[in-house]
Amino acid sequence: MESIHVEDEDPEIKSLNFIEQIIEEERAAGKNEGRVHTRFPPEPNGYLHIGHATSICLNFGLAAKYGGKCNLRFDDTNPSKEDTEYIESILTDVRWLGFRWDGEVRYASDYFRQLYDWAEQMILDGHAYVDDQPAEAISAQRMTPTEPGVESPYRERDPAENLQLFRRMKNGEFAAGERVLRAKIDMASPNMLLRDPIMYRIMHLPHYRTGNEWCIYPMYDYTHGQSDYLEGITHSVCTLEFEVHRPLYNWFLDRLIHTDYRPRQIEFARRNLSYTVMSKRMLLELVQKGHVDGWDDPRMPTISGLRRAGYTPESIRNFAGKVGVARREIVVDMSLLEFCVREHLNKIAPRVMAVLDPVRVVLENYPADRAEWVEVENNPEDASAGTRQLPFSRELYIERDDFMEEAPKKFFRMTVGNEVRLKGAYIVKCERVEKDGQGRVTTLYCTYDADTRSGSGTDSGRKVKGTLHWVSAKEAIEAEVRLYDRLFKDEDPAGHKDIDFKQFLNEESLRVLQHCKLEPGLVDARPGDRFQFQRLGYFCVDKSSRPGGLVFNRTVGLKDTWSKQNAR
Ligand code: ATP
Ligand code: MG
Repeated sequence: MESIHVEDEDPEIKSLNFIEQIIEEERAAGKNEGRVHTRFPPEPNGYLHIGHATSICLNFGLAAKYGGKCNLRFDDTNPSKEDTEYIESILTDVRWLGFRWDGEVRYASDYFRQLYDWAEQMILDGHAYVDDQPAEAISAQRMTPTEPGVESPYRERDPAENLQLFRRMKNGEFAAGERVLRAKIDMASPNMLLRDPIMYRIMHLPHYRTGNEWCIYPMYDYTHGQSDYLEGITHSVCTLEFEVHRPLYNWFLDRLIHTDYRPRQIEFARRNLSYTVMSKRMLLELVQKGHVDGWDDPRMPTISGLRRAGYTPESIRNFAGKVGVARREIVVDMSLLEFCVREHLNKIAPRVMAVLDPVRVVLENYPADRAEWVEVENNPEDASAGTRQLPFSRELYIERDDFMEEAPKKFFRMTVGNEVRLKGAYIVKCERVEKDGQGRVTTLYCTYDADTRSGSGTDSGRKVKGTLHWVSAKEAIEAEVRLYDRLFKDEDPAGHKDIDFKQFLNEESLRVLQHCKLEPGLVDARPGDRFQFQRLGYFCVDKSSRPGGLVFNRTVGLKDTWSKQNAR
């Protein structure tokens, strides 16, 4: 494995990736009449994560690029792990990423009847047999890749008897594990998957779509290739672990299909992300053991987690494009994903003032009964975003750590006797500090310079080094703000032999701040709204947020401060 940080590139001038090269060569040769039909085939056994997102972008992207189609198909062959909750989440995530599948959603379970009929045909043709041995015996007989396997005593059973037994399996006459249907291929093959793989197993379990219709279920390997075939898929793009399955998929199709058309399987390497885990099993464990607040916890690498954190579909698509595809497995640095969302939010997120850890400021020379409005830009990156008015008054809040009593030389924020500008308003100077019994600052008494109002005719043009964000105390509204950090302290938490990945959980990955002070316009913020809290980072309104009980999640800081362990 190799760690990379992909450079910012213009997708238009990027050369073709290896899959596009294959497609273009085939189209030039007139294969499949130039048709491109891809699919994204998740198993509905968990929520989608950022690795899946790259696969979604790839499959839908290829279809779009070549004027083709992309199917969404659930490879739902294992009723013991599948759930409609997962189906719903996957549909939501694919749509949210901005993709539209061709026609109706497909399900491998829609092909159960066809697969069953094909299995009967294979039995009659002598390509499949019922094995009465228990699973352990079957797997022991497979031996190891360097020594040939042992043939089952049932391998040469007569097709008519096999057919009868297979029908009895289907009719529910046997208990789970009592019999399986196996393909008769080659017990000496160096490819272990060709050593008479199981095609059907008995499972007396209802399926979330087919109910109690079946008590035998086809194996994934007996289902996937034929499903691609049935859907007219031209390019079956999948991850590298399926490379060894390809001869098996082809073996089934060659026994069943007598035309030239075949889906072409092309493998690429998984995209992994540093500082997280991507295995569905591990993600499920984090959810079940309560280490996170559900699959959509903003620290999860799931698409729903990223969405709740405030990521945009554009930023994830852009990330997928930058990562690209290759045959080599790579670990992409988490900071690239953060870079992508920061870059997009910088363009679109309205700027607002929010003080997370407030300390009171009193402008002693500002009349108590005076209230004025100052004008500030909504987004300096986007003139069309316009401006808004903020109330300004004698009592304000600024960020507690924007003040220091004993400040080092280079500290350009507030300190006694030093001038700073309050953004969009006046230059102020701290005159004295008031503290409580514990020595904690309670109020900063300041004076303001009336001739320095930003953008007004009376601005003397005087410059000061520091500019602080602030909110007016009377009008400020309160919110809870959740500061998320990376979920793991280790770059590759799942990569340690003998150490459980949960040992690397970052105990400080969530800090919840109450009574943060926000500019009054945020009173109408709705779940999913995204903002830049000036000088602090990008924040998104959480799904639990309500008027009067606002909750914000930090999406990402303004800069890549992870390496510097910057507290905020
Ligand atoms: P499982 O272990 O449950 O099979 P999975 O992550 O492979 O987990 P699938 O639902 O089978 O989940 O994945 C759907 C598609 O997404 C597959 O084509 C798979 O190859 C692809 N995919 C999964 N993980 C990644 C990843 N990290 N990078 C790129 N593609 C991925
Ligand atoms: Mg899989």
